[in-house]
This record gives sequence, structure tokens and C-alpha cells, in this order.
Amino acid sequence: MLSYKAPLRDIKFLTNEVFNYQDHYKTLKAGENADAETMDMILQGLADFSEEVILPLYETGDKEGCTFKDGEVTTPTGFKEAYQQFVELGFQGLSYPEEFGGMNLPMSLNLIKSEMIGTANWPWSMYPGLTIGCINTILQYGTKEQKDLYLPKLVSGEWAGTMCLTEAQAGTDLGQVKTKAEPNEDGTFKITGTKIFISSGEHDLTDNIVHIVLARLPHAPEGTKGISLFIVPKFVPNNDGEVGERNGVTCGSIEHKMGISSSATCVLNFDGATGYLIGKPNKGLRAMFTFMNTARMGTAIQAICHSELAYQNALPYAKERRSMRALSGVKEPEKVADAIINHADVRRLLLTMKAFTEGGRSMIYHSSRYADKMAEGVAENDLDKFEKWDDKIGFYTPVLKGFLTELANEVAKHGMQIYGGHGYIKEWGMELIARDARISTLYEGTTGVQALDLLGRKVILGSKGKVVRDYTASVMKWCGEYALDKNMRKFVWALTKLCAEWNTLTVRIMLLARKDREIISAAADDYLMYSGYTMMAYHWARMAAVAYEKLENGGEQSPEFYKAKIQTAEFYFDKLLPRASAHAESMLTPSEIMTDMDIDNFSFLDE
Ligand SMILES: Cc1cc2nc3c(=O)[nH]c(=O)nc-3n(C[C@H](O)[C@H](O)[C@H](O)COP(=O)(O)OP(=O)(O)OC[C@H]3O[C@@H](n4cnc5c(N)ncnc54)[C@H](O)[C@@H]3O)c2cc1C
Repeated sequence: MLSYKAPLRDIKFLTNEVFNYQDHYKTLKAGENADAETMDMILQGLADFSEEVILPLYETGDKEGCTFKDGEVTTPTGFKEAYQQFVELGFQGLSYPEEFGGMNLPMSLNLIKSEMIGTANWPWSMYPGLTIGCINTILQYGTKEQKDLYLPKLVSGEWAGTMCLTEAQAGTDLGQVKTKAEPNEDGTFKITGTKIFISSGEHDLTDNIVHIVLARLPHAPEGTKGISLFIVPKFVPNNDGEVGERNGVTCGSIEHKMGISSSATCVLNFDGATGYLIGKPNKGLRAMFTFMNTARMGTAIQAICHSELAYQNALPYAKERRSMRALSGVKEPEKVADAIINHADVRRLLLTMKAFTEGGRSMIYHSSRYADKMAEGVAENDLDKFEKWDDKIGFYTPVLKGFLTELANEVAKHGMQIYGGHGYIKEWGMELIARDARISTLYEGTTGVQALDLLGRKVILGSKGKVVRDYTASVMKWCGEYALDKNMRKFVWALTKLCAEWNTLTVRIMLLARKDREIISAAADDYLMYSGYTMMAYHWARMAAVAYEKLENGGEQSPEFYKAKIQTAEFYFDKLLPRASAHAESMLTPSEIMTDMDIDNFSFLDE
């Protein structure tokens, strides 16, 4: 059975010692409520809930799955009771305004919440998780009436929410959305169409489900410029805000999937359902995309969740499982064989898992501070402020989402590998982590789409390389502070070279793209992975710098904790960062190497 203990020491190392959240919180209005004592209390409460209430439902939930009968979905045993506790503890409203019943704490705390509950039971956490997208949309684009009607119920968790974008023909390419919205005389709209793959589209956890739906008004322009956004509640609320008449949206079926089987993935049929326009007509996709960054950060967190759980469960096994003797000499002579953790190759697996998990967490916690600023812009109705910080996060999100979810699949695979053949057997839970991690590279935009977003939209079209120049300049500035520190020399030297190379690669691709437009698609994945390895190197260097400083001057953690951080940073730089060079070399290959082959020559099976 899988075990999980919330990694509070690692979390606090980042929030207190690396990023100094308390100082950052002083710059936020919502930060007034987030003093160190309150933070500790909430983190402990989340840890207890995650470890004691939802972890035990993870494997049982996977076995039982969701059931579908007569349009209704029943979640696995225990899910509803756990959800009820979550609502009673007020966790859904952690980072939302007090006027809607929330606790008005910084958004970064909400992201830490997502990590803890998601590590204990990712599919369960998707039910409250999808509601967050719905709350954010109404908070930013809703009218006062819409906010007053929906937000108190959503923020408390009494009602849940969904995001309904995908249709059978329209996934990545949402310009192909066909769902129709026809005006009614009373100002509402009649929504007709079928959405597929809708997470939490139907379930038994809440009295009502509020769907945020992409649809087309009559005579709307073709493609992405003609899509509007609608609120379509399962039960239309009465004027008193309570559940009213059943609306014309029903669940047609649920998917049978490789993983996250206890998260209901639904086909939703809208048969003239009553919908309410949210935001401006034909500007729905733009509105939806303003939340892409937060949604993608949510999926990046999923990467850390599976990585952490795989690592926590692989480590004790590696200490207990015995096989042969270490090449460097017998380590445990009193035992029949040495524990497998004594073999360098098993350590390679474990250290890779540790380096990616902790490095990824640092990348997310760094960007979370920008999410705090962005959320403040929404709360203050200050569009400029929102856009400034949304833009800033926009550079990080494709890397966080695309790079970290790919790494999470590697980490989950290593976790299984450490268990040998037992990793393939359901009883141990390691195959469950690998199955559940797989979806993270697919939904919220595939890795390919993240890569195109980074290189095409953010780097080339959006800024002509400026985002990379700015980012690398800040890294170089940081390196400058450690130039004379002999402990840090190795890290700083490697990072300096990478920063220069990253800019050169960017310019070379921009030049190549003048003649070879397809190079952007051809190079995007390598560019994404290169950017990810480089960013993670910066994070490991920063963590090592803090660890050296704390070893010298004392810190919150033990010396062993800091030494382990430094050793993991060294492992990352020596064993994992060299992968960036292969991506650098590969990304400059002209696109013909992929595009020249005739489509008919991909296979000769039909000849
Ligand atoms: C379990 C699950 C839960 C989901 N939850 C939700 C949800 O709650 N709400 C919702 O609306 N949707 C949801 N989705 C849908 C999900 O977001 C889409 O499946 C995803 O966006 C990809 O779309 P697609 O499946 O149509 O793939 P396609 O768009 O058909 O892509 C197929 C392949 O082509 C590549 N590709 C596509 N276009 C390009 C391009 N221009 N350049 C290069 N490569 C390209 C892609 O990277 C991919 O590899 C969910 C899906 C699943 C499986």
C-alpha cells in the first residue's frame, strides 16, 4: 500500500529559506492574514487531511472507479464523506475573497494545498481542483449578480464547477468548437451541443455543478474569434441562491481510462440548456486563455505530486530490498545480501527522482509568487496589474507544465524500476502512479502544444527573444553575486555558459525560421526541454547557495538536510544537466529531416 507524509521540511525550506514568502506576503493585501503561525497551522491541517483522510482512498478509489447509471455518476466509496470534510474545513475557499466566504489568503498557499491533496490522491483532488477554474472565471468576468449568485456556493465547496472546452473534433484546435448558443427573449441563451472528456462533469459530491462552457453565438465569426463563454448550471439557482429547476445538461457516459479512474471524465450533452453569457460576446477564448496559466500551473503541480509519491515509496523499498553485493565491497556483511540502495545504479534512479521532484517544486514555488500578484490584480479589479503578472507567469507556465510533466513520467517509471518486477504488480501501487501521471502530458495542452507556446508565442512572436534575454539576465545577475564564492564556482560557471548558449540558440532559431517556418514546430520540443533543464539548474544552484549559507550560519533544518541539498544539486549538474547539450544540438537540425519524408513512405504495410 502506498504511503505519504507531507514533505513539510522541504516545503518550509523553500517558503522560508529560499524564497522568503513572509517578506513577499508583506507586499500583498492577502498576505496580512498569512503570518508564519497561520501558515504553519494551515500547512499542518492540510497535511493531516491529506495523509489521514484522502490517501487511504487513493488505491481503493482506483480499484472501484466511478460508476455510471441512468445519467448519474457515483464516485468511489468514501469520496463523498472526504469531500464533506474538506468543505467543513473551509479548504476550498483558502485563497478567495472574504466577501464570498473565503479566507483571503495568498494564491500561493492554494497551490501548496493542491500539491498536498494531489499527492495523497490526485483523482480525488480533481473535483475541488476543477472548481477553481470555474471560480476564477466568474471572479474575473462575471457580473455582480453572477458573482453574488454563484461564488459563495463555489467558494464554500457546496457546489462544484467544470471547464467545458473539448468536443470530439475540437481539442487542441478550439477554433473548431461547434456547440451553439441561441439567444432567448429573456437575455439567457439556449446551449446545444456535446462536450467530451469533461472532468467532474457529473458526480455525487455536491448539490449542484456549474459548467463554464465554450459555445458559438449565431453568425459568430469562424474559428477562435467567434467563441463565447457561458455559465450553464446543472440546476438553475433560484433567486434565493438555492438549487432550483433541473437544467438541460446531462451526462451521456463516462470514459474508461488508463489512469485517474476515480475522476469522472464525462460526455456532457447540452440539449437547449439555459446558459448565461459571461464576459463579452466572441471573446470567450481570450477569457478562457487568461486562466490557462493558472490551470497549467495546476497540472505542473500534478507532476510534483506523482513524483513525490513515487519517490517516497521507492526509497524505503530500496533500503529494504536485498540483492547481491555492492561492487565497492560488502556493505551489510551480517545480511544475506546488500540492500539495493547500495548499488550506484539504484542510487542513480533515486537521485534522479529526488532532483526532479525537489527541483520542480522550487520552480513552481518561485512562480507561485507571481500568481499571488496576479490574483491580487483580479481581486482589485485592476486589469493592468493582472495582465502584467499574467504575462510574467506566461513565460514560465509552458516550461512548468510541459517540462515537469514529462519528467514526472520519468520519475514514475524510475519508481517502478526500483521495485523490479514487483513494480508492475498492482499490490504495491507503483504502477498506479505511473498510470495516473501519464495524463499530465496530455490534458491542459499536450507537451507539443506547450513547446509551441513557449518557442512560437512567448519567445519568438511575443517578444523576439526578449523574455529569454530578461530571464537569463536575472540569472546572470544572481551568478554575479556568487562569482567569488568557491563553493558555488562550479554551479555558477555552468549556469553562465548555459545563459549565453540559450540566447544564442534563440537567435539562431529565429534566423532559421525566416527561411524555414516549420523549424519552430521541429525545434519546439528540444527548446522546451533545454529551457526546463536550464531553469532547473538555476533552482538547484539557488538551493545549494542557501544550503551552504545555512551550514555556515545555522538554519531551520539539520546540517544533514542542507548537505543532502548540496549533494543533490551536484548530482543534478553532473548527471542530469548534460541532457541539455543533446537538446541544444538537436534543436538546430533543419526541419527537412522531419518534413522531407513523403507521407506515403511512413509505412509500406498496405503495398
Ligand atoms: C482524462 C481527461 C480529462 C480531460 N479533462 C478535460 C476537461 O475537464 N475539460 C476539457 O475541456 N477538456 C478536457 N480534456 C481534453 C484535453 O484537454 C484534450 O484531450 C487535449 O487538449 C488534447 O486534445 P485532443 O485530445 O483533441 O488531441 P489533438 O488536439 O487531436 O492532438 C493530437 C496530437 O496532435 C498534436 N498537435 C495538435 N495540433 C498541433 C499543432 N498545431 N502542432 C503540433 N502538434 C499538434 C498534439 O500535440 C497531439 O500530440 C481531458 C482529456 C482527458 C483524456
